[in-house]
Order: sequence, then C-alpha cells, then structure tokens
Amino acid sequence: MSAQPIRTTGHQITPGDIDEDAYKVLRRLHQFGYHAYLVGGGVRDLLLGRRPKDFDVVTSARPNEVRKLFRNCRLIGRRFRLAHILFGGGKVIETATFRAQPSNEGDVLITDDNEFGTAESDAYRRDFTVNGLFYDPASNEVIDYVDGLEDLQDRTLRTIGDPTLRFREDPVRMLRAVKFAARLGFEIEDETRAAIRDERGELRKAAVPRLLEEILRMLWGGAAARSFEVLAELELLEVLLPEVAAFLGRPADDLWQPLHGLLVAVNRRCNGQPGLQNGVLLAGLFWPLYRALIEDLPQRPSNRHLRPLAEQLVGPAAVRLRMPRRDVATLVGVLEGQYRLEAAKKRRGSRSGFARTPHFPAIVDFLELRADAGELPGGIASEWRKLAAECPQPEERPRRRRRRRPRG
Ligand code: ATP
Ligand code: MG
Repeated sequence: MSAQPIRTTGHQITPGDIDEDAYKVLRRLHQFGYHAYLVGGGVRDLLLGRRPKDFDVVTSARPNEVRKLFRNCRLIGRRFRLAHILFGGGKVIETATFRAQPSNEGDVLITDDNEFGTAESDAYRRDFTVNGLFYDPASNEVIDYVDGLEDLQDRTLRTIGDPTLRFREDPVRMLRAVKFAARLGFEIEDETRAAIRDERGELRKAAVPRLLEEILRMLWGGAAARSFEVLAELELLEVLLPEVAAFLGRPADDLWQPLHGLLVAVNRRCNGQPGLQNGVLLAGLFWPLYRALIEDLPQRPSNRHLRPLAEQLVGPAAVRLRMPRRDVATLVGVLEGQYRLEAAKKRRGSRSGFARTPHFPAIVDFLELRADAGELPGGIASEWRKLAAECPQPEERPRRRRRRRPRG
C-alpha cells in the first residue's frame, strides 16, 4: 500500500453543494491545522449529481481535540469515540478521526476497530471503492486512494480489497452492496458478486439488529423492488427470509410479481424516506404468502382465526430477526386487517368500530399500497382513508406507573 492517491479538481462538487453546517465543521478544523474531509455517501452522491442523505466528516484531529473546537460537540461511542457536532433542527454532523485498518489476526470477523490511523488507512478500511473517496474543500480536491473515481465512472460497486475477506470481516457489507447497487443503479463487480454468493452463510454471524436495519433501509430507501430482486438473485433472501424466498421463487417467476408491484408502490410512497411504519413495510414481504394461505383454505376463516394464522406465518422470522414487538404487532394487524376490512365493509356499525382499532391507519396505508399496485380499485382505499379521518384513533392512554415501594 502507500501508493500516492489520485488528487483531482476535475469534478463537479462545489463548496456550495455541501451542507452549510458540515462546511463550517470542515473549515474550522482546517483553520486549526487539521486535515478535514467530507467522506462516504456525501462525496459519492455529490459526484453522481444526487442529493446526499447526510454529510460525514473525517479528520486528523483526535476526538478530544474536536471537542475543544466546538462548543456544540458531544463525544459518543465507548471503544471508538466519534464526535457528534450538533446544529439546529436536530442536525448532527458526525466527525470521526482517521481510523487504522483493523488487524486481521485470528477470526477475521471484526470485533475491534478502534485504532486511530491516517487518511490512507481510513480510506482502505471502508467498504466499497465508491464509498472511500474524500473531498477536501480547502483545496477543492477529490482524493482517491482506492480507485473509486474509476468505479464511479463505470457505475460499478466493488469492495476495497479482497471481497471474501471484506465480507467475512463484516457480513452486513453484503446487504450494503445490494442496497447501494439497487439504489444507484450500479452493477456489482464480478468478483464481489461471486464472493457474496459464496459467503452468504456468513450473514448468520452478523449482529441481528443490523440485518433487520438493512432490510428496512432497503424497503424505504427508494429502490425496494430492485433491492429484493438482487437479494433473490444472489440467494441472500434465502438466508434472511427463507420462508418468503421459498414461496416467491425467482424474480422471473409469476409468484414474484405481486411482491414486485407492492414494492414499486412502496418506492413511490417512501421516496427514500422512512415514510411508513416498519410493520407496514414488512407486511409487503409477507402479504403474498398470507393471501395465498387464506385463499387456499376451503372457506374464508372467521375474524377470530385471521390473527393466529398471521402470527404463525410471521412468528419464525420475527424471532430470528428479533423484530421489535411493536413492529410485529403492526405487521400482524396489517395482514389480518386486509381481510377484516372486507368483513367490516358489509356492516355499517362495525365499520366505525373497526376504524377505531389500534392498527387501523397502518391497515389503510397498506390497503393504499395494494391499490397503487393494481391489486384493488383505488376507490376502496380512499373510502377507508376518509373513514380513518372521520374516526380518529383514541388517544393512547398514558400507562400508569406503579409506585415502587420503598426498600427496607
Ligand atoms: P447512505 O447514503 O445510505 O448514508 P453512506 O455511504 O453514507 O450511504 P453510511 O452507512 O452512512 O453509508 O456510512 C458512511 C460511510 O462509512 C460509508 O460510505 C463507508 O465509507 C463507511 N462504512 C459504513 N459502514 C461500513 C462497513 N460496514 N464497513 C466499512 N465501511 C463502512
Ligand atoms: Mg451516510
């Protein structure tokens, strides 16, 4: 390593593209003699002419040095300390000190990633070449240690270094690869793709909350339909959600089409923001299975039986992915609710009663997705939406706190 990086001003980023608070952070660090660069998704997206989700900063300043320069700074993290610099409206500019590459002794799964390093080592420890670029506003240069500019030009997603090793270090990177490829419309480079297929079982070693987090990000990230196709192509869906993968088959199969339609509707609705409850987003994945389960029964189950059927269907995945209880409740409520709506439609009195049940707004959100996907006439969804507006949800009663008896 230790090659000279490419430094270029031949790019389209101007300081005006950068969030003004991130720019203030960069400028102040620079004024005090530190290196300070914009990094990661912010640089990648600006180079692609996309609006970045957030602006991360890396610097040669140590966390306590950063803290001395910014009154509005909070250090977080126990092992690797990060500076969060806080601005109005809840904005946080995450400012990290250059990190060393993790040493690969023994098991490669990274459990310890807390040494400070140089700009170069910090670039190499990042996941994909297009995520490893720095932008230095002081010189207006993009600094490229990892050939990220070339891959950006070719619209290619490639790990930095040996893909097998990088995925073993952190299996969640496989899901990140899918997310970025789908969102940016990039091809995953051949070796990276082959390594994902070979190493997909490693996902079982990943921290479970991160898996669910990535699934949800794919769902609301604006490219849900493509993300789940790529997950299936690379056989990752079989590891994450085996029941869903087994039912749906491959994206070219007929059974996949309803999911595709729903996810396209999700993309339209969320547009890159977490605009729907997690339980509604997850319902999209289970709805084709649930519907088939109900439709295949000799007769339509009564309302009383709809819920246990949904619970049985979702249960194993909910346990495996440690879905928060509240999300599972919404997910189950949304699934059974699709059929309960049908029953309630027939009786006027029960309509407004049903509209006051806890998951009703989520049920209608999902109904709208189905209508948008062409599964139902749009009029039905808007009728229920109107009813939802007329029958506001009862206020959640604050839970009474039990007084603790004094000890002794
Ligand atoms: P997004 O637009 O979704 O925010 P991003 O590229 O900014 O995309 P983040 O998850 O915000 O992604 O992470 C910021 C940067 O940190 C990444 O661009 C990458 O350089 C680095 N990074 C994040 N997660 C990992 C990881 N698991 N392994 C290595 N580097 C990572
Ligand atoms: Mg980011």
